[in-house]
Amino acid sequence: MTSPPLRAAVIGAGPAGFYTCEHLLKEGFEVDLFDALPTPFGLVRTGVAPDHPKLKTVTRVYEKTAARPGFRFFGGVVLGEDVTREELLERYHALVYAVGTADDNRLGIEGEDRPGSHSATEFVAWYNGHPDYADREFDLSTDRAIVIGNGNVAIDVARMLVLDPDEISVTDTADHAIDALMRASVEHVTLLGRRGPAQAAFTNPEVRELGELKRADVVVEPAEVELDELSARWLEEDAEPTARRNVEMLRAYARRTAEAPPSKSHRIELKFLRSPLEVIGDGADGPVSALRVVRNRIEADADGRLRAVSTGEQEILRCGLVMRSIGYRGRPLPGVPFDERRGLIRNAGGRVTAEDGEPVRGEYVAGWIKRGPSGVIGTNKKDAADTVARVLEDAAASRVNEPSEPDAEAVEHWLRARVPGLVTWAAWQSIDEHEMALGEPQGRPRVKLVSVPEMIAIAERGAPAAR
Ligand code: NAP
Repeated sequence: MTSPPLRAAVIGAGPAGFYTCEHLLKEGFEVDLFDALPTPFGLVRTGVAPDHPKLKTVTRVYEKTAARPGFRFFGGVVLGEDVTREELLERYHALVYAVGTADDNRLGIEGEDRPGSHSATEFVAWYNGHPDYADREFDLSTDRAIVIGNGNVAIDVARMLVLDPDEISVTDTADHAIDALMRASVEHVTLLGRRGPAQAAFTNPEVRELGELKRADVVVEPAEVELDELSARWLEEDAEPTARRNVEMLRAYARRTAEAPPSKSHRIELKFLRSPLEVIGDGADGPVSALRVVRNRIEADADGRLRAVSTGEQEILRCGLVMRSIGYRGRPLPGVPFDERRGLIRNAGGRVTAEDGEPVRGEYVAGWIKRGPSGVIGTNKKDAADTVARVLEDAAASRVNEPSEPDAEAVEHWLRARVPGLVTWAAWQSIDEHEMALGEPQGRPRVKLVSVPEMIAIAERGAPAAR
């Protein structure tokens, strides 16, 4: 007699969640994929820049996973509010948290919360139509913005601020953001790095793409790309090809800046070796009018890591908008061990661990909440495979959880009773078709719905409970 399949709940329907489902399904598990939103795909829907439609085609891979026998999607279920971890442990042999890193890092400087000073997290979620951020307001009536940070999110934000109406109108940017961005007065965006061009976290295609914008020139003053001795040696001897190529491209932008004045109406300027000290504005809570920064130099710390050290020399950079894009951290889940210092669920190679380092039976992690917010979408495939390998080892050794109520049908009944707006995969497909149909006449991939009640109404109209 064969034993019934093991059942897993994967929490978070972004790339890490879907790759985890794929690996588990291939190994014969039944998998229920949960998300707090009615929509799947996590940051592919609410993070990837709308002018990068090719990156979003990865959802076709996830749709194939969703078509596998044994897969179910339950959208609109908030862990810790609608259902608890303990209730899931009563129903599944394994829980895999793939919830990403929802919170942004803070600068911890004076004036950070003034009107006009925002986190990239909020801005990105807003222009991508995340329902929780759809009614945020960004005053884009200034001509100058500063984006703090030298990662790909900072580049995305800078680009979105200067996209030409022709470039933005063919994307799935949320309608409210298209309206606001088309009316924006921002003409000059400064990307500000605390270390030098050699240490920027950009990847090469993103740096190249800056030079291909319709109405914005890239401005890099030649002095900005002159490398100090330590960085030059590091680049020569130790750096990855990505850093070398970044510096080459930034030097090419600097040559262009030196040879001819910018000719387009908008600019993205890159400045390095500056740390923000204060977001300046009138009085205690007046809107942003400038950023006070300090110039840095590069020094090696005891481990040889090149870090920014203040020179004490300060500058005031005029601007009416500040976006900090300095990385993310995870948000603790009720009852799940959390490493406050790293901002991640405490884990060893994907197994959730208690404070004493011992694995917690039946609980696992995958993606950014496991390893931190790094890498590209595909990085999560191997990451998820590693976690699933741990689940399989534990299953083989009878070390997974032993649920008291594992029946799949009973789980669905329980969820329907608990969550009135529960969105199944069929229901999501109705939302998906509806959005694409709205986009088609406008030559856009989709028009995103940004209100949860509207999504649920469309889902219920297209996908009655029986489907
Ligand atoms: P990131 O790549 O880690 O970059 C964070 C940046 O913030 C770094 O330049 C860091 O500088 C800087 N920073 C941190 N603390 C700071 C502080 N207190 N003051 C000033 N600067 C500070 O993070 P991200 O841009 O959020 O991206 C997250 C991940 O998503 C990355 O792996 C990224 O490649 C990926 N992503 C990919 C794409 C794409 O493929 N197109 C698009 C978006 C995001 P230091 O280096 O000095 O710490």
